[in-house]
Amino acid sequence: MSTPLEDLDARAQALMDDHRALIEVTGDQSTLPSWFKTWSHLKMRVQTLWIEQIVGQYQRPGDQTTDALHKRFTQYWLPELEQLDSRLREQAVQTGVESVNPAVSRLIASAPPPSPRMAELNQEFSRLTKQYQDVVSQHHFELGRTVLTMADADRLLRESQDRNEREAVWHAVKAVELASAPGLDDLFEKILSVRRAMAVEAGHPNYAAYIWQDRQDTIAGTEELLRTISDVYRDVDTSLHNHRAKVLGVTALRPWDLRVALVEPKSFDLPLDQYVPTALKVLNSLDAQFGEVVRQIQRHDGFDLAPRPGKPNGNICAHFMAEGRSVLVCNFTGGVNLFRGLLHEVGHAVHNHSISSNPEHVFWDFMNFWEVQEFYAFVFTYIGLLEFFELHDIAEEERTWYLRSTAERIMERFRDVEERTRLELWVYQQEQQPTTEEIDAQYLRLIRTSGVDWSGLEDILKKGWQKPHTFRFAFYNVDFAIAMIAALQFVHAFEQDRDAALERLKSSMLLGATTGSKQIFAAAGIEYPFQKDQLALARTVLAGWLG
Ligand SMILES: [Zn+2]
Repeated sequence: MSTPLEDLDARAQALMDDHRALIEVTGDQSTLPSWFKTWSHLKMRVQTLWIEQIVGQYQRPGDQTTDALHKRFTQYWLPELEQLDSRLREQAVQTGVESVNPAVSRLIASAPPPSPRMAELNQEFSRLTKQYQDVVSQHHFELGRTVLTMADADRLLRESQDRNEREAVWHAVKAVELASAPGLDDLFEKILSVRRAMAVEAGHPNYAAYIWQDRQDTIAGTEELLRTISDVYRDVDTSLHNHRAKVLGVTALRPWDLRVALVEPKSFDLPLDQYVPTALKVLNSLDAQFGEVVRQIQRHDGFDLAPRPGKPNGNICAHFMAEGRSVLVCNFTGGVNLFRGLLHEVGHAVHNHSISSNPEHVFWDFMNFWEVQEFYAFVFTYIGLLEFFELHDIAEEERTWYLRSTAERIMERFRDVEERTRLELWVYQQEQQPTTEEIDAQYLRLIRTSGVDWSGLEDILKKGWQKPHTFRFAFYNVDFAIAMIAALQFVHAFEQDRDAALERLKSSMLLGATTGSKQIFAAAGIEYPFQKDQLALARTVLAGWLG
């Protein structure tokens, strides 16, 4: 029996050998297509090892073997493999990969191999985000005599009808977060300086230009999109706040009032152990092909849905490209509302499985189209919920309850996207690296608090920018806004002609990232980039949900 570390070493060594063997193949035009396929498959096999480490960090954080494997892979094997990969990339360019796959050729040209300095910065960045993960995965607190995880707190803030309890939990969460805020400030300053150095190394004036320069895909640039979102959806936002205050019987909403379920629907209970069978039923009813994906994940034992102490908050769907299988690592406690989260992750899985089902697709077909990936996840969330209502004969007023709650989550995201992206544009466009005090101050200037009473809580409010994505993926969330707006438009089409909409959805899901977002959205029946009309159409769906 080999140890897990020996097993990793053997697999990584085999990959190294296969890389070296492919480097030895002096390709010409006739052998290039098969050479290119082999290269793509090597990249997928490297991704398998990478994803195993990431899933390990989510499933068994702090476990010695898991950490040793992660360290061994990221600090030893990955740099070695990346070096060999960059030689293959050079070879691909020299032998004229353009004739085999023009889209990949363009991608390669737009992202030159990392210089030794950039590789160093990438390494440093991974090290810092790992530190971030280590800090937040330790977050927990005691309430009375019970130790609560952040997932427990999250559940209480959503479920507790006792306002005093919510206030206590909210303050306890914020006390934990504030205690680590100075450490996270230091960490963010380091991340910021690494990102600034990356921009310099890549020859861009700043990190926003470096990361965000290609985004020509919104109304008229990111800032205009953000302004329009805020403009089009302000009424929905105000109406949700007013409704919430009225139902809770409070004159002013406080931060601990924002997430609690308003009037608990009672007639239908969905315990955690029914999540997978229910998802199977819902997806099967939409299309047998979707249901099959749930069955496949089940067969591979790929559902890890319950929270555990130390398990990081949040939900992920990890897809092994080489094998075409997905693993879901989540933190659900049961109930219809959280079931939406499972539909979201299963949506990612269905999309990934569709890409994997096309043998013509290459490594690059899975990558770097967040707005498209999230679009499918939200489509499955929304149409999955509607299908769930039908299958379980959920009463009308309960449907409205869940849809209102869904609309609230969407508006929460829109606000978050607007605030965070505007903050990030500011942070990364500054000539001098801003201090975290300056970031606090700028965040307070940008945040919209209308409808919520934050008085006396400014110290907490100003740290609102310390969210996972700010540390881990700059500008990540604009993709979410685009995805949600597109998914709402899809719901509109689905309600007009379900079969036609699903057929378009299925064929669009077969397209890989190298096809480009615009064409993928077009195949799904979504006009993109959005004009103001599309935002307004998406708003009519939301307004319909609010009754
Ligand atoms: Zn997602």
